[in-house]
Amino acid sequence: MKSNENIGLGRLWRWLIAFVSPVGRELGLFVTMLVTFNLRTFLNLNRYVIRGHEVPDWLPRFIVGSMGITVIVAYLVALTVSHISNKRRRRLVKRLIYTALLLLWFVTLFLHYNFNADYTPQVFTLLFETNGGEASEFLRAWLPSHGTRYALFLSVMTLAAVILIERYRKAIVDWCGDRRLVVALSALLLAALMACGCYVGSKLVRPYSSPTQFEIVSSELNSNDIISQWHTSAVMLYFARHETRHAIELNTKVLDEKGITCTRDTFTLVLVIGESYNKHHSSLYGYRLPTSPRLEAERDSGNLVVFADVVSPYNLTSASVKNMLSLNMISRGERWHNHPLWPALLRAAGYELTMWDNQRDYKAGSALTFSLNSLLYSPELANRLYTATNDSTFVYDGNLIDNFAGSNALHKGKLRCHIFHLMGQHTAYERRYPVQWRSFTAADVPLNAPYLDLRRRETIAHYDNATLYNDYVLSNILNLYRDNNAIVVMLSDHGEEVYDYRDFMERDHNPDKTPLMLRYENEVPFAIWFSPRAIVNTPELLQRVRAISSRPLMIDNIGPLMLTLAGVTSRYNCDESRNPLSDSYRPGLRLLYDSSVDYDLMTAE
Ligand SMILES: [Zn+2]
Repeated sequence: MKSNENIGLGRLWRWLIAFVSPVGRELGLFVTMLVTFNLRTFLNLNRYVIRGHEVPDWLPRFIVGSMGITVIVAYLVALTVSHISNKRRRRLVKRLIYTALLLLWFVTLFLHYNFNADYTPQVFTLLFETNGGEASEFLRAWLPSHGTRYALFLSVMTLAAVILIERYRKAIVDWCGDRRLVVALSALLLAALMACGCYVGSKLVRPYSSPTQFEIVSSELNSNDIISQWHTSAVMLYFARHETRHAIELNTKVLDEKGITCTRDTFTLVLVIGESYNKHHSSLYGYRLPTSPRLEAERDSGNLVVFADVVSPYNLTSASVKNMLSLNMISRGERWHNHPLWPALLRAAGYELTMWDNQRDYKAGSALTFSLNSLLYSPELANRLYTATNDSTFVYDGNLIDNFAGSNALHKGKLRCHIFHLMGQHTAYERRYPVQWRSFTAADVPLNAPYLDLRRRETIAHYDNATLYNDYVLSNILNLYRDNNAIVVMLSDHGEEVYDYRDFMERDHNPDKTPLMLRYENEVPFAIWFSPRAIVNTPELLQRVRAISSRPLMIDNIGPLMLTLAGVTSRYNCDESRNPLSDSYRPGLRLLYDSSVDYDLMTAE
């Protein structure tokens, strides 16, 4: 009996040893993988450990869920590597894995310390939408930053830790192997985490019929490791790609639709989409430096109506522009891809439609079809939607306008809609304006916060110069239409932070929003210009635009307004309660970021 028990225990012991041995044999690799994959989890713990935030009750679940999935992956990799019998081949494979892990480690820290960003679908979208020129500008802007240096420092420290573990691995494993309790506890912990991983993984990896369904499950499980984040991004991008397809099909049908008519004879409607325009840096909105003198003059002469309270639903170009060009109303729970694009209605009504886009990506139509450009330039839609588009992009927006003015698109047709998409005040700010437009310097920026050193004040001055140059570009656009019957609508896709109230520039993709983040990243400039002839021809329209200029608006709902200005009528814009220009307009809540933030509620606090 006793010997049977001994045999049984001996077998169990051998089984435990066999179970944990891949971890022991590849301890360095296993630990590095686990830490790298869960880096975001550890970085998030920072706020509870160091900053003393109250620990929420979901935190243990969050850690266990994240660790579970990654333990399985790390274990499988360790198991595979430990079975490579050829020593040289094993060393080579390990080096490759270590290199990939350290690269991943650095990129994760780079995103975290510079942008407070995770591996979200938006970050992947940005990566895929960025072309070579933008990428090198981006790196030039961010490589010298404090966040990058810190990320690099931590990555080097990790490399040192990896070398130490590899060096002392045998001693550590021998020490543990001699202690049965340590082996038993390790095996138990490993098995428990793997069981959790199987549970979480099985819930995450299954077919979903809508993005919302997936969002609910993933927020319930709260796994925040890199593998879950990549999976989440892939699922969300899959849905985005299908949304884009749906929109393309819908809009090609709209282009053939009868019953979309226009009441105007000769008219030009212009939309200028700015980029990263922080309206609190425009003298049109009370900024202390004269950054918008030309538009101020237009306003003072009575041609320009400046809107006081307009916000963007996102701080990202693609999401913002898709909602801006579509006829959906976010406040009514409508998604952009289920509603036609208003430019398609203009085209169907007989307008000549041009798109001069300084952000145009020439890789559009490739495999990465989820981006904004895959909608705007999908061959099926673009060939029928636009009568002309730009075929090259320019360092400065002014050259884009010159290129348009020199083309024959400007005067083509009696009904014209011209859309301009500018680079505006996108980072790197100093590259957004020609050197002769350098009017402001660091000396013009007051030293009113401790973090505002010379470099940061220079950055702010660059932003203000870019804003001043943008004022010049916009006035050049207006000059093209001064003798026509034309209305020009100008807005930005979103705002931008330029060290306004904290030591931060660009946009923050952290889901926890604050009123100040919304003020600088979501409030946008919005103005409508009437040419002298448009004022004479349609004085009542100017009156109506003036009357609504202090109304709270969100740019997802400019569609009905654009159609009214264009004089286009269709079954899509007969509901006056959706039209900001109408007396029957029923504005909805201004819901930002997939309706997770109520702008007015949050900023009223
Ligand atoms: Zn943008």
